[in-house]
Amino acid sequence: MKIKLHGTRGAYPTSSKETQKLGGNTSCIEIIEESQRLILDAGTGILEIDFDSYAASKRVDILLTHLHMDHIQGLGFFKPIFNPQKEIHIWGPGGSSYPLKDRLNKFLSPPLFPVMLRDIPSKLVIHELPNKPFKLGEFLITAKFVCHPGPTVGYRIQKGSKSVAYIPDHEPVLNRPELFKEDRWISGFDLCNNADLLIHDSQFNREEYENKVGWGHCTMRIAAELSKRARAKHLVMFHHDPAHTDEYRSAMFTEFVNTHTYDFPVELAVQGQEIEI
Ligand SMILES: [Zn+2]
Ligand SMILES: [Zn+2]
Repeated sequence: MKIKLHGTRGAYPTSSKETQKLGGNTSCIEIIEESQRLILDAGTGILEIDFDSYAASKRVDILLTHLHMDHIQGLGFFKPIFNPQKEIHIWGPGGSSYPLKDRLNKFLSPPLFPVMLRDIPSKLVIHELPNKPFKLGEFLITAKFVCHPGPTVGYRIQKGSKSVAYIPDHEPVLNRPELFKEDRWISGFDLCNNADLLIHDSQFNREEYENKVGWGHCTMRIAAELSKRARAKHLVMFHHDPAHTDEYRSAMFTEFVNTHTYDFPVELAVQGQEIEI
């Protein structure tokens, strides 16, 4: 299974020179296994995808974790949605008040977007995620609600014995590290359990987090403690704060790895990176 990171930034895209190393595009990854592809989230990173690689397939599957702008703002510019030959399947969490289709429609309609959802030329099929694992081709998909404001899921994608967990916006223990003592109190635990790769939120530094508990993001330390507790085999720290320059983020990371030891690889997500599991 190959995982491509097309957008690693949280909150809003940045074109600053100081953020180009880790990347300025917002959340989007692609999972590729032979001829099958899945797109997870549709931040501006979705525009980095090689559209020609989808030329042969009629169907495209896009799995959204939630509808915050940094996870959907590339959707209306993703070329295949304007191709009448394509079937675009969009998966996302249902909401308690409005169906997924109505919530997406709020974004893909004037005045926020010039084209109405109903006028998009491809065949759009919108699915609310089932609450049990389901198959898309060879992939087994598990989506579970995780701790983040508004209906938000994390994903676990499995193919054979390999698995990747993707939880870009997440506050697994709400600044209560003692909750790591019991698996059942940890948000997202089952998704990460023994995963070969965990791609996880790590947006805030310690001081920022103290003032933003409940905002739905966490620190490098909390991401690593979750990974350790769930025995994930490789952690990629994702959803970089757009106010953090590459230099600042690298210094944060260096300080973190110099003061904490884990027996699995830990790294910062880099836009354009490809990981094979
Ligand atoms: Zn986000
Ligand atoms: Zn969010």
